Amino acid sequence: MGAADLLAFDREHLWHPYTSMLDPAPTRLVTGASGSRIAIDGVGEVVDGMASWWSAIHGYRHPVLDEALREQAERFSHVMFGGLTHEPAVELARRLVELTPDGLDRVFLADSGSVSVEVAMKMALQHQRGVGRPERTRFLTVRGGYHGDTFDCMSVCDPDGGMHSMWSTVLPDQVFGERPPGIGGDVAEWASGFRALAAEHAGTLAGLIVEPLLQGAGGMHPYPAECLRVFREVADEHGLVLVFDEIATGFGRTGALFASEAGGVSPDVLCLGKALTGGYLTLAATLCTSEVARGISGSDSGVLMHGPTFMGNPLACAVASASLDLLATGRWVHDVRRINRGLQALHDIDAAEVRVLGAVGVVRLDHPVDVAAATEAALSQGAWLRPFRDLIYTMPPYVCTDEDVATLCAGIAAAVKAG
Ligand SMILES: *Cc1c(COP(=O)(O)O)cnc(C)c1O
Repeated sequence: MGAADLLAFDREHLWHPYTSMLDPAPTRLVTGASGSRIAIDGVGEVVDGMASWWSAIHGYRHPVLDEALREQAERFSHVMFGGLTHEPAVELARRLVELTPDGLDRVFLADSGSVSVEVAMKMALQHQRGVGRPERTRFLTVRGGYHGDTFDCMSVCDPDGGMHSMWSTVLPDQVFGERPPGIGGDVAEWASGFRALAAEHAGTLAGLIVEPLLQGAGGMHPYPAECLRVFREVADEHGLVLVFDEIATGFGRTGALFASEAGGVSPDVLCLGKALTGGYLTLAATLCTSEVARGISGSDSGVLMHGPTFMGNPLACAVASASLDLLATGRWVHDVRRINRGLQALHDIDAAEVRVLGAVGVVRLDHPVDVAAATEAALSQGAWLRPFRDLIYTMPPYVCTDEDVATLCAGIAAAVKAG
């Protein structure tokens, strides 16, 4: 099929994320990707400002990742994880235990970010049952969050963020605190409200789940690291399992390897995904402490009740380990700092608000973005962006050159004007 036929079939038959089948938004045909660039039919090579939804941190067709994939494919591509194990899974878990904050020693390899969040919530519920508190079935979180698209994940997403409000009648009823203040905001005032809310509902709460340091798809909102200590204290005070969802923030994006480190706080459960994969194959992980694992073992079943078909997929694990080895060289630290410097140019754009944290650059408009017009304008500058709501942002691959970053800033400036 030629490009026109592929696009025509796609339009007729394929659902894309958050789109209508009857009146689909335009899609563009990718014909290749290499380094920081993707090739789009009819447009040419453009800098990928999204890193494939924040996962392709080392860029496309990285020789080390390609080789890891090829090597594992020549051994075996998949076996069930029930009753069997393999080197790629063990090697990945070994690296994760070593890299992540202290105490997170038990690893569940899930097949997507949303599933890893479901598993984290299940861990918290089973832990509470195991320690004799089965009545604790709800979760405390903050407004403005995003934790995935499956049902329990949606229940802790921002309640007014569209998707969730539509489902409110069928979702578990969770407890929402105010969103933490932005950088430089009044943490003490927010914290006292949050502590009071936790105290009020403590008897029904199993866990506290948040995205540390940066709320991603719920609004690209960075907040002070002090708030992480408040989360830890609240969880300790009321016996809640503290879940940090670092699917967006993990592996250097905010400037620290994990956002938890920025607050000097270790969670009881940690979700990883996106950048974990190096952008190749779907994979996520839920890590927990031995204490949480002991609680789970004390619950009625005595086991963690989860086990996806593609758990611990060897191809995905092999690439993820290779990606972690690339991170272990420490080059990402310089790259993220360098990208951060380049993204400071966004402050010159005339907009409602500009936020730059690590390798994340966000421009907020005072109105909803005209996505089609903004996308087109960014492409004309050689940048691929995917704005949402009132936000035009970039989370590029760490391998972006300074020139690439300048292209992305020009793309964002053009998108702001057009959108
Ligand atoms: C993307 C994301 C998820 C969901 O991951 P999927 O792999 O898309 O299911 C969950 N939490 C956060 C913070 C995310 O950014």
